[in-house]
Amino acid sequence: MDALRRLETCGKPVAAAINGSALGGGLEICLAAHHRIVVADDETIRLGFPEATLGLLPNAGGTQRLPRLIGIERAIDIMVFGAVLTPSEAEACGLIDRVVPADKLMEAAKTFVKTAENAAQPWDRRGFRIPGGGVQGGARWPFIFANARAGSVYRGNDPAPTAILACIYEGTLTSFEKGCRIESAQFARLARHATSRNRVRSAFLSPRELRKRHKAPDQAVRRIGVVGAGQMGSGIALAAALAGLEVVVSDTSHDAARAGHDRAAAAYDSLVRAGLAQARDKDEVLRRIAATDSLDSLGETELVIEAVFEDETVKRGVLGAVDALLPAQAIICTNTSTLAITPLGESLRHKGRFVGLHFLSPVPRMELVEIAPGQETDPQTVSRAFGFARQIHKLPVVLNADRGFITSRISSAYLQEGLHMLNEGAHPAVIENAGRAIGMPMGPLAVCDLVGHDASLNALRQTPPADAEAAADHADIVDMLTALVQVHRLGRKSGGGFYDYGAAGRSRRLWPQLGELFTHGKAAEDAAYFETLKHRLLDAQIHAALGCLDSGVTNDPRAVDVSALLGCGFPCWTGGPLSHVDTIGAETLIRRQEGYNERTARRFATCGLLRRLAEDGRDIYDIDKEDR
Ligand code: NAD
Repeated sequence: MDALRRLETCGKPVAAAINGSALGGGLEICLAAHHRIVVADDETIRLGFPEATLGLLPNAGGTQRLPRLIGIERAIDIMVFGAVLTPSEAEACGLIDRVVPADKLMEAAKTFVKTAENAAQPWDRRGFRIPGGGVQGGARWPFIFANARAGSVYRGNDPAPTAILACIYEGTLTSFEKGCRIESAQFARLARHATSRNRVRSAFLSPRELRKRHKAPDQAVRRIGVVGAGQMGSGIALAAALAGLEVVVSDTSHDAARAGHDRAAAAYDSLVRAGLAQARDKDEVLRRIAATDSLDSLGETELVIEAVFEDETVKRGVLGAVDALLPAQAIICTNTSTLAITPLGESLRHKGRFVGLHFLSPVPRMELVEIAPGQETDPQTVSRAFGFARQIHKLPVVLNADRGFITSRISSAYLQEGLHMLNEGAHPAVIENAGRAIGMPMGPLAVCDLVGHDASLNALRQTPPADAEAAADHADIVDMLTALVQVHRLGRKSGGGFYDYGAAGRSRRLWPQLGELFTHGKAAEDAAYFETLKHRLLDAQIHAALGCLDSGVTNDPRAVDVSALLGCGFPCWTGGPLSHVDTIGAETLIRRQEGYNERTARRFATCGLLRRLAEDGRDIYDIDKEDR
């Protein structure tokens, strides 16, 4: 912070020439310059302060410079709500002084340095006023509204937004220097908080560890095949084409294959809108995807991913045909989310080259990929799948053979807990609010609608319950989903499920007749009950996450936390379900779970690992893998 203060007060003009994204620390440096110029012709450039997403705040003076430069309202948008600006948006609000073509960037910066008459920041000049007014003047109401908005977005779960608001409020009422001291004190408080420790570990350190976990083969993949040009197949094809690979996508008819290509084109447009791809590269990327109605051209590919319907017979048929066609050195992957890998590959000629490669939707945006080897899968196949996932810029998590996927277990625990609540008589709106109140992006019933009730029923039938007690829970959920399917409310794709959907699924409201299918109002609906629902929705996912370690899906808590955050929308303020267990303590968690109603408590009572942690007084991240 001192270095940046010295830079901006040294008396010489300083220009920041910005030729890439400036986020966090990068933007701090730019703000300490007297003039900021950014290149115009790169649609992927973004400027912002993402520190709040790590439970921290900009602590090199950013909370003081930004409101003094662009006004309090806009600064709150960027620092508290994570708005990231394009170069033109940054220019419009005064964060950037000029936007120039890339080849004029250095020239423009040099011209400023040579000709600038004033080398002082606005806040160091006499008579300075904050643009738009201070927190007790023009920005009074925007500040009050921002506080209310932060309450509804973060629901009091996250200490960072409140700390940033405090820095802005208190810091802008005083001098720049005193404001920086307030910022330092708030930063120190956040840095000691479990939230920031957990979030930094799960957002930075653990992904780095997981990326190094396997050695990828030296030779990169050049050409892949994808069978099934549906939602997943078209997404996988686009993700691979974006990384420069040639892709052949095959489906049962020319029209279906073509529709997959169109879906990939639409997904590309949405990446451009989000600043994740450049419009000018679209044709070149899409040219790499060849759509076909036959499997023949897959014979020349090095890796094939099966992404057809989640139906064992259909998948076996496709995998057999691909196996017969591919040269022995090519590998075959399946994107199944529920089927066990070993039996699926049992009739293949070369079982060792078959592996589960579980992408998540929407594939071009979801970074996580789970790699699930079967019992017969060669280690070399796992390395090659790992190398391929890295090549297309994904974060691969390698699981142990045939024990299920982390993301499927955690996501289904969340939505099934929501269904149990509905079955007990809780009001659907209360259930959905409880989900959002813990920080989930959607309530459990909305997630059920997104998955589709026919697909969920299909998945439930493929995974029979473990014991007689679980069978009763299983039967309840099957009955509820069957009731919806019978009245053709399949979820979002059919225009209605628990919700009614407006055009293109954009707007939604709870289906008014839901009460006729599932009577609600039986359960007490006071504040204590709402708290219980919140805890249950969190604990159901924690229980599934602990189950991943307990049953050997993986023996690495990092893999579970990262998968839950990146793949299931698990509340990010926790740093992941297992980090959260360490934060609140195993004993507290057990006590909480024992206080639920009898059936719920029984569902959560089966975790041996949690009991061992409580008995030994240890944290998950402290114990050796061998002990787990
Ligand atoms: P989808 O229904 O959108 O697409 C399936 C495609 O497979 C269709 O285009 C269909 O015509 C094609 N197909 C069916 N039989 C075929 C055959 N014999 N040969 C060639 N093509 C054939 O399904 P989806 O959502 O893309 O799911 C595909 C797979 O990915 C499933 O195994 C699913 O469980 C898994 N998965 C889905 C998601 C998700 O969110 N949708 C997430 C992870 C994994």
